[in-house]
Amino acid sequence: MEARLGLLALLVAGLVGIRVASWAGEWVHGWNATWLGARVTADIRAELYHRLEMLSLPFYDKHPVGSLIARATRDVQMLQGFLIDGVPYLVTNLLTLVGILALMVGMSLHLSLYVLLPVPLILLWGAFYWSRLRMLFTRLMQSWGRLTDRTVETLTGIRVVKAFAQEAREIGSFNVANGGIRAAGIRVKLHQGIFFATMALITALGMMLVWGVGGQQVLDGAITLGTLVAFYSYMWMFLGPIQWLGEMNDHMSRAFASAERIFEIIDAPPEGAIEGAVMKRPPIAGHVHLSDVTFGYDKSKPVLKGVDLELRPGEMVGIVGRSGVGKTTIVNLIARFYDPDQGSVEVDGINAREMDPGHLRSHIGMVLQEPLLFSGTIADNIGYGKPGATLAEIMDAARAANAHNFIMAKPDGYETPVGEKGTGLSGGERQRISIARAILRDPRILIFDEATASVDVETERHIQVALERLMQGRTTIAIAHRLSTLRDASRIVVIEDGRISEQGSHAELMEKRGTFHELVQMQQATSEIIAVAD
Ligand code: ADP
Ligand code: MG
Repeated sequence: MEARLGLLALLVAGLVGIRVASWAGEWVHGWNATWLGARVTADIRAELYHRLEMLSLPFYDKHPVGSLIARATRDVQMLQGFLIDGVPYLVTNLLTLVGILALMVGMSLHLSLYVLLPVPLILLWGAFYWSRLRMLFTRLMQSWGRLTDRTVETLTGIRVVKAFAQEAREIGSFNVANGGIRAAGIRVKLHQGIFFATMALITALGMMLVWGVGGQQVLDGAITLGTLVAFYSYMWMFLGPIQWLGEMNDHMSRAFASAERIFEIIDAPPEGAIEGAVMKRPPIAGHVHLSDVTFGYDKSKPVLKGVDLELRPGEMVGIVGRSGVGKTTIVNLIARFYDPDQGSVEVDGINAREMDPGHLRSHIGMVLQEPLLFSGTIADNIGYGKPGATLAEIMDAARAANAHNFIMAKPDGYETPVGEKGTGLSGGERQRISIARAILRDPRILIFDEATASVDVETERHIQVALERLMQGRTTIAIAHRLSTLRDASRIVVIEDGRISEQGSHAELMEKRGTFHELVQMQQATSEIIAVAD
């Protein structure tokens, strides 16, 4: 008796020891899995963002920003769930399955076969549901994308929403998108419910079978009741991981749906990539040649149809034409935001397609129609394109852009904070800061796309004087709203119906009495009306 008690105590102590060890193991394992999962998802997020920065504008024309944000956040989270709760247990559960199966076969091969009977059914059921669950998850994630889109778009455009008193409408459309997520979520849950319930049913039926057959064998005296009970508890241990594998099906379909959305971005070719080619980075003097360029944002609707345009270094060329005729498009092609469908853009005799777009753009200073600033100080914004620029350089650029005086008039001068997208500054102020930003880069090619459209005539005059100094030795392309500002251009190019219809100096074109003459006359008439109205 004494000896048996001792053995019992030893066994219990052994069990406690095993439990404690397994507790410690589980803790380390859980911590490891979490750490690894978090690390991997952080890496995926980083890679995704890296890709997003590298993708081309045509990609952004097709993918709304909100859906990209959803991918970088929600979809990555879905993957994380799979990596933390799924993958680490895959090996342990598979090992458990094999071990328990071996024990069961050792006890009774006959009964083991019955236990295995539902397994193919479970696998079939899982395979059958796999694609359906995956599609449902994809839809759910797409709804999230749509909601993020709506939110990003209306919150960034909140001024317009308020100006037109459309808050209720935006709330309404948010609710519709939100309802979309709810519906997609419910559909997922509904199908998950059916999936899991059916799985449990198949498993339970399998167990009933073992009860029946096993009971029969006990009655026949083929096995003892003890064996059956022991077998039964092993069966439970066996079915646990099987159930878990079913859950993995769910986890995996979710993770695959998200992974697909993530890899759509990671696999998108970065801009400028030509398979196998090394992008050239030649020194750039500023000779630009568009030869027979045909291009359309939608290939079937060309905006430019065979444009030939040569810009020599140091030349200032004005581009004019009616709104929507393709002036900005020409600039987009020079900066390689888009590549022509036919013909080529050559910079210093090298096809721009073979050039590293980053290198090319580092020699281009752009002032866009809608100057976009980032939150930060005025100095940060001017220095944006030249990290490490000194305050003296920033001030010089601001002086050149005729911005210095208004900046100094602000209470914090160059340290004045600028809100998101440049709120807190007037349109003209924003424009002059963006001009200073372009100047600071000391580019070979300067592009002004209606850059002075939203400043008053007097400020425009000041900027004009500053620019004349700056343009020395640079290729300058000026798309001007007020045609009078192009008086000093070495050449003016008129775009009409996707082609260059006229070109020459201001005086030549006026003499010709063509489209340019007509446009100038129209503007003069308008400004006379304004003068009379004043
Ligand atoms: P503008 O001469 O006024 O600068 P643009 O070059 O901006 O004209 O535009 C030329 C034409 O191309 C317009 O019809 C415009 O609607 C279209 N367009 C401009 N940008 C895009 C874009 N990203 N995607 C599709 N169409 C565009
Ligand atoms: Mg334009």
